[in-house]
Amino acid sequence: MSGDPENSEHPEPPERAATTARADEFLAGLRDWLAIPSIGVDPAHHGDVARSAAWLAEALRADGWPDVRVWDEGPAQPAVYAHWPSADPDAPVVLVYGHHDVQPVDPVERWTRPPFEPTLVGEELFGRGASDDKGQVAMHLLGVRAHLAATGRTTPAVTLKLFVEGEEEGGSPHIARTLADHGPELDCDLVVFTDTPLYSREAPTVCTGQRGVYGAEVVVTGGATDVHSGRAGGSIPNPATALARLVAALHDEDGRVQLPGFYDHVVLPTDVERADYASLPFDEQVWLTNSGRARGLSGESGWSTLERVWVRPTAEVNGLVAGYTGPGLKTVVPADARVKLSFRLVPGQRPEHVAEALREFVDAHTPEGLSAEIVSRGDGVPPYAVDVAHPAVGAVRDALEGALGKPVRFSRTGGSGPAAVLHETLRVPVVYFGVALPDDNIHAPDERVVVPLLLSGAEALAVLWRTLPERLASGEPPA
Ligand SMILES: [Zn+2]
Repeated sequence: MSGDPENSEHPEPPERAATTARADEFLAGLRDWLAIPSIGVDPAHHGDVARSAAWLAEALRADGWPDVRVWDEGPAQPAVYAHWPSADPDAPVVLVYGHHDVQPVDPVERWTRPPFEPTLVGEELFGRGASDDKGQVAMHLLGVRAHLAATGRTTPAVTLKLFVEGEEEGGSPHIARTLADHGPELDCDLVVFTDTPLYSREAPTVCTGQRGVYGAEVVVTGGATDVHSGRAGGSIPNPATALARLVAALHDEDGRVQLPGFYDHVVLPTDVERADYASLPFDEQVWLTNSGRARGLSGESGWSTLERVWVRPTAEVNGLVAGYTGPGLKTVVPADARVKLSFRLVPGQRPEHVAEALREFVDAHTPEGLSAEIVSRGDGVPPYAVDVAHPAVGAVRDALEGALGKPVRFSRTGGSGPAAVLHETLRVPVVYFGVALPDDNIHAPDERVVVPLLLSGAEALAVLWRTLPERLASGEPPA
């Protein structure tokens, strides 16, 4: 930023030099870690998940973290916990959340380079987990080192706790139990959640929420077996027709979901957030290309594409099957028909309420002579959004603006994650801190991370730890 006249009055923060000085070492360590194939959902790789946890624990100890533990008591895959108390007993306690398990690599033949042989090409580091989430967890380690080096402190200005789980990619099936079992160790004033991207490198953002999700399968059943349509067709109800009607009734002409009470408690984003969404650069063609090369936009009337994905709830048909689907024709009235549905939820909605509303909706759309069963896919994931006026959100945004040299706006993500569980169990606000990019190819071949963004992220974290105590104490709203 030294050539930028706008910034000439603002000398570089000491955190920048402290980050840069450790960049090579940081990168070498991250490459070692990425070489461990910690695929949490694959039992064949559970030993690697344990090796990955051990690697992280060792790296934390080497950095000087005084209390580092691997939680490996099952049934959860090994998680890493670390604690570095501030010398100031009144300092705020911050819990950093991330994960060290990675997605499977299939189809492996589509990777340009082997997924577990991390390769640096220009500014980009390629490898499974580079962006999601090992790169971003490693960024935190660098951030703490830079914070201490830049301030000359021997303990951080905030009391830091780190919780890096080993099964996020499998939907964090045991996180509630882990949080319950380790309540006192995880006790904190604030969670910093690191597993989300910026909107783009050119238009960086701080994420302020994720949608929740509820999934279920609906099975409409008529008789005990398929029956010849010439013999019985026209005389008995057809489950496939009934299910098609039910599916068609899920949305009205304006794209609004027709489950009873679906929108009753929806909490809208603030005007500041909506203004930020509207001001983000948006290219419809790029959006469509990145959306499976779709041919056109659709959705709920009255909302922009980003709003439809970030702050509006949805109902989607994920799969639909009935009757004979093999080659040629088979003239039957099918015995049953089934649909897999998922609902993305926004603040104010609860998975259990949507489950009840779906029951009511299905009952109302099941004609006489047929029965309908609903099988929930787990309990679902609640949505979460942080209050953008919380001083920690302002502190994160200011730290990122300083490190990236660009204005930072608000965004959300349409996907789901354990932020709500962390918030509901620990009863503290969750703020998001991530510098990954939406086109990092996470969960896909050729995953990569942009190294300068990780370094800027580490610098911003170092500044955040220095500035956060005062920001929280003064309750200052974001500038
Ligand atoms: Zn992740």
